[in-house]
Amino acid sequence: MASKRTHVLIIGPQGSGKGTQAALVAPRLGLVHVATGDLFRALMASEGALAREVRSYYERGALVPDDLTVRVLLSRLEELDRCDPDYRGVLLDGFPRNRAQAEALDAVLRERGDELVAAIHLVVPRDVLIERLSGRLVCQQCGATYHRTFNPPRQPGICDRCGGPVIQRSDDTPEAIARRLDIYEEQTAPLLDYYRQRGLLIDIVGDRPIDEVSRAILAALAPRLGA
Ligand code: ADP
Ligand code: ADP
Ligand code: ZN
Repeated sequence: MASKRTHVLIIGPQGSGKGTQAALVAPRLGLVHVATGDLFRALMASEGALAREVRSYYERGALVPDDLTVRVLLSRLEELDRCDPDYRGVLLDGFPRNRAQAEALDAVLRERGDELVAAIHLVVPRDVLIERLSGRLVCQQCGATYHRTFNPPRQPGICDRCGGPVIQRSDDTPEAIARRLDIYEEQTAPLLDYYRQRGLLIDIVGDRPIDEVSRAILAALAPRLGA
């Protein structure tokens, strides 16, 4: 029987650096980085009705329905239990995004006997978010995140990590960016209080160099993960 998992979530608006930071700090903490956006991008790379359904929301910058999102997340957690019975927990990126998802997560954790030990909140002003998102590039193969100016791949168009093609995401258009930031303010930002009231929220200044943000996150999590 695997021991109880200790999970962390990372929350903040689109462009605040969740994916970038999660990829850097998760391995240092023995956590597995699980991003619902990456799970959807992997799913959309396949053919079939589910891929088409996800694409119809994703490309507009709309949220995928909660029941489908929770199912996709659960199946990833179950896969981790099977493939890596000794893993410590996940660093959850991009989930939950609304109250219903936060409550679904609580229910899943209760059922599994797992614990959520912290919610890292990346704080970045809106003008910086827009600048970051309009220059964001991602690896089509492994999901690694880059930026045209702030964090370019060593060779243009080629992923440092896996050699895959580095492209702009189909939802990083000005319209979809504005729409996603509005959805964040309306639906996701209210969750900050939900976690603050439970003593789980840790605010981190995200508008500074990538390695400084990582150091701040690692320092804040160390006591909670017993590291
Ligand atoms: P961003 O942080 O720029 O929104 P993500 O990669 O986290 O990028 O998400 C991309 C898209 O995937 C979202 O616009 C949405 O369509 C879908 N998505 C990701 N996570 C969720 C979620 N928790 N609930 C609903 N839809 C989601
Ligand atoms: P999120 O997952 O929160 O949507 P990303 O990690 O995808 O955010 O980052 C958005 C964009 O900003 C990417 O192009 C990334 O390279 C860039 N970025 C992330 N963190 C920083 C930082 N501290 N300074 C400058 N650019 C950053
Ligand atoms: Zn790659």
